[in-house]
Amino acid sequence: MSHELLAPEAALRLILAECTALPAENCALDDALGRVLAEAVIAPEALPPFDNSAMDGYALAGGSEPLPAGSEWLIEGEQAAGDGASRARHGAWEIMTGARVPDGLDRVIAVEQTERLDAPPRVRLKAAVAAGDNLRRAGSDVAQGVAVLAAGILLAPNHLMLLAALGVARVRVATRPRLAVLCTGRELVDAAGAALAPGQIRNSNGPHLAAALPRAGAELVHRETVGDEVEAFLAAFARARDAGARVVISTGAVSMGRYDFVPEALQQLGATAIFHKLAIRPGKPLLFARLPDGTLFFGLPGNPIAVAVGLRFFVEPALRTMLGLPHEVPWRVSLTADYAKKPRLRFHLKARVAMDAQGGLSAQVLEGQESYRIRSLTEANAWAVIPLEANTLAAGSLVEVYGPSHLHSPDFGGSHA
Ligand code: AMP
Ligand code: MG
Repeated sequence: MSHELLAPEAALRLILAECTALPAENCALDDALGRVLAEAVIAPEALPPFDNSAMDGYALAGGSEPLPAGSEWLIEGEQAAGDGASRARHGAWEIMTGARVPDGLDRVIAVEQTERLDAPPRVRLKAAVAAGDNLRRAGSDVAQGVAVLAAGILLAPNHLMLLAALGVARVRVATRPRLAVLCTGRELVDAAGAALAPGQIRNSNGPHLAAALPRAGAELVHRETVGDEVEAFLAAFARARDAGARVVISTGAVSMGRYDFVPEALQQLGATAIFHKLAIRPGKPLLFARLPDGTLFFGLPGNPIAVAVGLRFFVEPALRTMLGLPHEVPWRVSLTADYAKKPRLRFHLKARVAMDAQGGLSAQVLEGQESYRIRSLTEANAWAVIPLEANTLAAGSLVEVYGPSHLHSPDFGGSHA
């Protein structure tokens, strides 16, 4: 009996059809790093808020013709950063960088281009200075009332700088999807210091997901390790939902082994299995289901690289939709060497993207692609995706490449088509 496995693109469409953008919530600026803007930010103030000097120097007034080199001006006052409004008559004002330009003045000459003279205190220009020179006009960076940051922006320190400069106290951000992680397997040991009994291994998927999910925009509300019994799994599942999880991710126990009980547990929960098994490597046994209350369930196979692939290529796109983000556009990078695979599976390969002396990028498929090998993942800085139908690709072929996490991969633009 041969039947075609579900194509990963079709699987992703089924996943995304179950996902909707979560509502927006308010977030104080201090907590906004790493959140996704749900609404555009409108500048409540102008930036800079007043005309100020770009230089330490002298502020002057004049007509449309530049004030000539050699001219001398009586010094009438001094204006430092933080000084309030003042009004100039017709003389020069000594002014510091960032100081408010006294009303009536319209240009600044840098101190290096002047000579200070005494009795009476005055300044001689060593260069001409034209209207507007060395001024930072109010609103020249951002005019009050304009949209400065668009919905969908991941707030990074640069954005927080702008928001702080504009006096924005809180922003509207996408609510973070609430997730739970359940690791299955009676062989698993969580305590890092504990000695391993024969047959035991350490739980590496749990710490990996707990670290990766918040970086991917989710809030991890519950995490638990259980054995291979349906009852223990169901009890853990109930605790995950009590903790507020709207998406539950499990690892292990979705393949064909005698103890792969997750499909049975889901049946007992009354879940609708949306798919089980995909034409991918690694991670083929991936299972996706919806619970009667709307909770979404990803059953990832237990192998660590299968978990990483399930997270990166199926869970993260779901998170993007929940965060109101558009589909990710992969990079296209040429392979450093020939690559041969068997057809009818899409491969997700640990890869290293490197830059040559001309600035050209290429992707090297790393040694050690087996799904149990964790060390090679630490040498990878990207995933290379080899399409389902491909079997051999020549060196130099362009392949789709994804950064390690959807929110932390440079967006180089480009289109989907
Ligand atoms: P399973 O999908 O349950 O058959 O597990 C597949 C492989 O992944 C087995 O070798 C498991 O021991 C291993 N594995 C399962 N869960 C974890 C985990 N949380 N951390 C590390 N390895 C795991
Ligand atoms: Mg298992």
